Amino acid sequence: MIDQSELIINGELVAARSGRTFDNANPATEELLGVAADAGPVDLDAAVAAARHRFDEGAWSADPAFRAHCLRQLQTALQARIEQVREVLIAETGCTLSLSRLMQVEPVIADIAYVADLAESYEYEQALPDTTTLMGPASRIVRREPVGVVGAITPWNFPLMLNLVKVTGALAAGNTVVLKPAPDTPWTAALLGRIALEDTDLPPGVFNVVTSADHGIGAQLTAHRDVDLITFTGSTSTGRAVMASAAGTVKRTFLELGGKSASIVLDDADLGAVVGLAASHICFHAGQGCALATRILVPRSRYTEAVDAAEAAVRAFPYGDPMDPANMMGPLISDRQRARVLDYINVGRSEAKLVCGGDRSPRHDRGFYVEPTLFVDVDPDARIAQEEIFGPVVTVLPFDDDDDAVAIANNSIYGLSGVVSSGSVERAMAVARRLRTGTVAINNAHWLAPDSPFGGYKQSGLGRENGIPGFESFLEIKTIGYPPA
Ligand code: NAD
Repeated sequence: MIDQSELIINGELVAARSGRTFDNANPATEELLGVAADAGPVDLDAAVAAARHRFDEGAWSADPAFRAHCLRQLQTALQARIEQVREVLIAETGCTLSLSRLMQVEPVIADIAYVADLAESYEYEQALPDTTTLMGPASRIVRREPVGVVGAITPWNFPLMLNLVKVTGALAAGNTVVLKPAPDTPWTAALLGRIALEDTDLPPGVFNVVTSADHGIGAQLTAHRDVDLITFTGSTSTGRAVMASAAGTVKRTFLELGGKSASIVLDDADLGAVVGLAASHICFHAGQGCALATRILVPRSRYTEAVDAAEAAVRAFPYGDPMDPANMMGPLISDRQRARVLDYINVGRSEAKLVCGGDRSPRHDRGFYVEPTLFVDVDPDARIAQEEIFGPVVTVLPFDDDDDAVAIANNSIYGLSGVVSSGSVERAMAVARRLRTGTVAINNAHWLAPDSPFGGYKQSGLGRENGIPGFESFLEIKTIGYPPA
């Protein structure tokens, strides 16, 4: 049982004012995992008030060296308690031990160093050349200043990574934060808040964590008049609601939303190896990744070979108990999510050819498992090629030539990511340049790094996380004119 049932408000661990809690099941066993504090509107108001007070008081936003110090303390503390963090994260997400090491835990803690350094090294003030304005000669500086109170709203699939990227970026830039994690994964966030409270010098109110079973608490944050910026990761449909709600106070709004990315395998690629790997990637974390390339586009001239390679990979993909290091895929997050994925698989049966999988796991009586599933002969306009499924469902689509591949890849409301594989990096680069997406990997040279901007074109989002653009999204711009010396 996880024992993390408090909110973190104004530097204190507190119960929800109503005394209410909510529980979640372990997705791998369906057993009760613990209880979390179920914040209501008064708790959210208290968290925002604490963040507002601490920001307006001014000392935090004026001291980049102290902010870097606190973030480095946080990194050290997370490293010291890494096994506790991993245990909570695996228990609440169903993520496998292997994926926790590869993506969910170690690298994201290491990445804190980048923003901590940036807090200190970033040039917050820059001079423009002297000029003559309508009022005469002027010198000018352009200052970047923290925006104020940041509301961070996160989904359940990568809780530590997404909570940390938002919280550490916002804090490094001098803001104060209220974090509202997904109801399915309250404990990674609550533990992060507790570690920040117990093991760092972060002043009270700088970082608050509000867990709740009620999505309305997220909505309240987006409409709150004392919140200056919303950084949101989640589905595109919720992103639209966030944007509409934030409009009432003209809040700065950054959205990291859904995707339906394409993996384009050109006809000169090592097709067997590349298609197998592309199919396996979709099944990592049971397909619950926004940037996964869930449509594999293969040359019609080598279609049968490609389908055989995809089938071999999907049939062999190791899944089951997240704690078994051999497994690369665990359960889906919840019964609701499994039902949604199975509904999509049923849609797919009428749209395309099901090659393997397509049901609950026959090997598991408990846990929200779905078999790795492969559809081929998928039409680019089919629902399973257009809508985000968020499950271990691989789709294979044939294309005629490079132009056709680009057209199919770009035939989407989304534009988050993509992969291009070819025997010629130059040819792959030409295709990558034409993709309407925020990131592209060529021949599996991945882009994910703390200094790589990440985000979406089209309905995959607004703005960027990570890198200098991500850091600057937490800063306002002020231009000051003054008389030349
Ligand atoms: P979701 O949109 O259902 O929920 C995300 C968060 O928003 C949760 O904390 C939820 O409580 C909150 N929320 C719900 N309604 C709200 C409202 N009206 N106003 C404010 N907040 C509200 O998403 P999910 O199901 O938790 O996560 C899966 C989705 O997240 C997928 O679509 C996936 O693609 C997306 N995602 C995107 C990225 C990215 O960086 N682009 C990363 C991970 C996940």
